[in-house]
Amino acid sequence: MDFQRLRALVEKAVREALEEKGRVRVPERKKTRPGIVLAVAGGKGGTGKTTVAVSLATSIKGPLRFFDGDVEEPDAHLFLRPIFRETVPVEVPVPEFDLSKCTYCGACAEFCRFNAIAVAGGRLIFFEGLCRSCGGCAALCPEGAISPGSKEIGQILVGETRDIKFFGGRLSPGEQMVAPILWVLAGYREDEAVNIVDGPPGTGAGMIEAVSGADYCLLVTEPTPLGLHDLKRSADVLGILGVPYGVVLNKDGMGDGRVERFCEENGIPILMRIPYEERIAALCARGIPLAGEDPKWAKRFAELYGKVQELVT
Ligand code: SF4
Ligand code: SF4
Repeated sequence: MDFQRLRALVEKAVREALEEKGRVRVPERKKTRPGIVLAVAGGKGGTGKTTVAVSLATSIKGPLRFFDGDVEEPDAHLFLRPIFRETVPVEVPVPEFDLSKCTYCGACAEFCRFNAIAVAGGRLIFFEGLCRSCGGCAALCPEGAISPGSKEIGQILVGETRDIKFFGGRLSPGEQMVAPILWVLAGYREDEAVNIVDGPPGTGAGMIEAVSGADYCLLVTEPTPLGLHDLKRSADVLGILGVPYGVVLNKDGMGDGRVERFCEENGIPILMRIPYEERIAALCARGIPLAGEDPKWAKRFAELYGKVQELVT
């Protein structure tokens, strides 16, 4: 084979590999329970994710459970206005030190990769805020000087509004571990019910925990370069988690057509379009669910839910 031909083949292989790298895949999975877990996620804050989640909740016939998984900046309660009946604390294990047994060997400090323990000059200091509750220090302490304690990092607020049972995760000020709150929140999902999970923005640990175990995920995005960037990242995460997904295109009419092209090229269904209108933006700003104000939108959100049901059943 001559050099020119070999080079052309290599260039073609690299081009194809790069094109393949840019592609995403919508996983196929059918639900296995009578009810459904439907997650709503999106990129940055302000894409209309919560508007979509609460509008769905007010347009679907129950029994329905709504989960506010944006534990750092919860706002779904402002739209749905539930009456809260119960507050359930979320606790995580943290080490408790018995300094009468401690020899200040420093093994725990050396082990802790989060730098939550410092041992020097015959003193031990524990930085509780840095602890990630792995339990490793207690397991390795040669003197048995560390025992399991606990601390509250947040709460689950349980309430109801009309036919909707509402569960709101809250992260306490100064705390960082969102995952344990989302694990507890997921424990309230009911197999027989429609469970709508309003996830946090982004594709971090919170989003991953919020969408894990969902039968389907609606990705709310805007037709802008940033919207496309976030959509690609969310699609990658959902592909890895094996959660099927479709897009709700918010502010349709602004920006460019790149989000639509990306969806078309990768077989991602666009299940709803919300036009870019001042009136709609004003409703969202006043905390009014789109579907609550306008029966036309209630019907559209009910149809959206119907499309999702067809895709997962
Ligand atoms: S490993 Fe145990 S004995 Fe050693 S410094 Fe830590 S608490 Fe003290
Ligand atoms: S439990 Fe884990 S994270 Fe917390 S102090 Fe011990 S080793 Fe560090």
